Amino acid sequence: MVTAKAWVLKKHFEGFPKTSDFDLKKIELPDLKDGQLLLESVFLSVDPYMRPYSRRDMKEGDIMIGTQVARIVESKNPAFTVGAFVVGRSGWRTHFISDGKDLELLPSSWPESLPKSLALGTVGMPGLTAYFGLMEVCKMKPGETVLVNAAAGAVGSVVGQLAKISGCKVVGCAGSDEKVAYLKKLGFDEAFNYKTVPSLDEALRKASPDGYDCFFDNVGGEFASIAINQMKKYGRIAVCGAISQYNDSVPQKGPYIQIPVIFKELQIEGFMVFRWNNRREEGLKALLKWVMEGKVKCHEQVTEGFENMPMAFIGMLKGENIGKAIVKV
Ligand code: NDP
Repeated sequence: MVTAKAWVLKKHFEGFPKTSDFDLKKIELPDLKDGQLLLESVFLSVDPYMRPYSRRDMKEGDIMIGTQVARIVESKNPAFTVGAFVVGRSGWRTHFISDGKDLELLPSSWPESLPKSLALGTVGMPGLTAYFGLMEVCKMKPGETVLVNAAAGAVGSVVGQLAKISGCKVVGCAGSDEKVAYLKKLGFDEAFNYKTVPSLDEALRKASPDGYDCFFDNVGGEFASIAINQMKKYGRIAVCGAISQYNDSVPQKGPYIQIPVIFKELQIEGFMVFRWNNRREEGLKALLKWVMEGKVKCHEQVTEGFENMPMAFIGMLKGENIGKAIVKV
């Protein structure tokens, strides 16, 4: 008999999440039936989407939603061997039982030397978000200028590097000087700390006096309202996330964007990475190749200990992470 630990949403978040909104539970797992597997989480992901999705999809007492890299510890399913690693969607739990249908094997070409936690970051959902958002929504072309915010995070850091690989000029914004130094190390052409510049409008103009062809927006709110005025004619905006609004109890108000959208004839498209689930393999293969060639660099903010998951989640929402925020069990 295995006892799993799981974090449940004790109370719906009001404003910024607090550790008291979570509860740690123990769950006795039953013996396996034919066709089932027992898995142990090795790395768990903490992601911004958990904040808005918890309100939309969860009720109090539910286990927190989320993904993990897990190792198969017992198998009564011939399609899965003990010791193999998979990506699961079983929420914040140390152990779980699956029939295998919801599991994704790591790409077969995954090198032994590469940390498996990257399957939750650069070579996983956030990397795919950058890949498809840039290629299919921004439709970036060589020589164009790409703006990305939350640029030192899991998605943003890949966006900037992929845009560089494609021959674009890249401007990134992040919330600390340490993050800005990281962006420069990654090869961003221009980077600045949006929290300390005297004027965001001026900083954006200085970074690219001719404006922006593509804007990969992870933040929304006021940042997006300001950036939109500096788009070039026919510019494309990929609305990926709106993290500046996720913790608001009262919705933010304008400024409203219709005038620049009309005069600059902008294309603004929201997207969810799952739209390209049928091309997942293509995206992961490309990302894995770039990582192995050293063309895409990865950084992880690893929090040790399953008991620290709420802290890691809250820290990520506060901007404490460089690269992908991960919890190592
Ligand atoms: P990150 O690793 O970028 O972590 C979140 C970062 O957001 C923080 O480090 C912080 O960086 C920044 N941030 C937090 N609060 C604010 C704020 N009020 N204003 C501006 N920036 C803030 O997370 P991800 O890369 O995983 O996700 C980035 C965005 O992409 C999120 O909005 C997320 O919801 C979205 N997303 C969308 C997907 C889709 O399919 N559409 C899929 C995956 C992610 P800083 O210090 O720079 O402020």
